This record gives sequence, structure tokens and C-alpha cells, in this order.
Amino acid sequence: MACPICNKETVQAYRPFCSKRCADIDLGRWLGGGYAVPSQDPEDAERAIEEAERATNKLPSRKH
Ligand SMILES: [Zn+2]
Repeated sequence: MACPICNKETVQAYRPFCSKRCADIDLGRWLGGGYAVPSQDPEDAERAIEEAERATNKLPSRKH
């Protein structure tokens, strides 16, 4: 099974996600409301992650 956020392999402790970060992102998606499920494109996933981080406003910004 793959993480629905970043498509990496799921980690048992955080399933269906690969990490707490992705679980938080999914939560942020629901809290933020109405932004689309990211495509399989890694760049889209990265963008979604950044948007989710802004939406939740509790995860540190990542430097690229
Ligand atoms: Zn993930």
C-alpha cells in the first residue's frame, strides 16, 4: 500500500500514511477544505504538501 499523500510506502504506525507528516497533511486537507487530491506527479504532491503546511500552520516551512 502506498501513502495517499506522497505515494511512498506506508508505515504501519501511521497507516494509511508513510509518516506523521503525511497524516497531518491529510488532516490539514480536510480542515482546510476543498483542495483537490494531488495527482501522482511528485511535483504536484510537493505543492500539495506545501499548501497543506500553510493550511495547518503548525509545521515548519521546508527549504528547497
Ligand atoms: Zn507520505
